[in-house]
Amino acid sequence: MRAGYDYSILDPVWKIIQKFPGIPRVKSFLWILCKRKLITNVERSNRHFTICSRCAVCGFVSEDIEHIFKFCPPARQVWSELIVPEKLHDFLSLGISEWICANLGGACSFARYVENWILVFGYTLWNFWLHRNDFTFSNAPGNFGNICDRTKAMVASLDRSTRLLRPFRPAHGGAAIG
Ligand SMILES: [Zn+2]
Repeated sequence: MRAGYDYSILDPVWKIIQKFPGIPRVKSFLWILCKRKLITNVERSNRHFTICSRCAVCGFVSEDIEHIFKFCPPARQVWSELIVPEKLHDFLSLGISEWICANLGGACSFARYVENWILVFGYTLWNFWLHRNDFTFSNAPGNFGNICDRTKAMVASLDRSTRLLRPFRPAHGGAAIG
């Protein structure tokens, strides 16, 4: 083995996450989440950074990854809007890595609205994390706004920017510019 070589590129999970079409910061976040390396309050408590492992959003006694991304009331609310009702139980029962891969892998059958699902799923997770951080660390929590609206705005802004990058083609033939 070569010292310093990044073996994550050989990980099948990374092969799925690296295809995530959203912004790089969210791609890195998804990888860290998949590897369960996010510093939740349970983790902060285990490392003695805090004596309180409670969720700052809802007060639940143990804020771990499953709680933030699946079971905290804002997550419950968003998933009940986005996921086919009969599939919600199965959707929430998957392990974190399996769950992320199933939804980013492109053949997901959980979503009610499949358009841009990979982006919607990835950005929703990111916004749960930002929302949780707002409650955990901000002096004035609660100004984060609606998670679904934020996700929609992120997806729309990426859609606009990729459209701007596409070569311009005149409506009635002619050469492409750009
Ligand atoms: Zn909570």
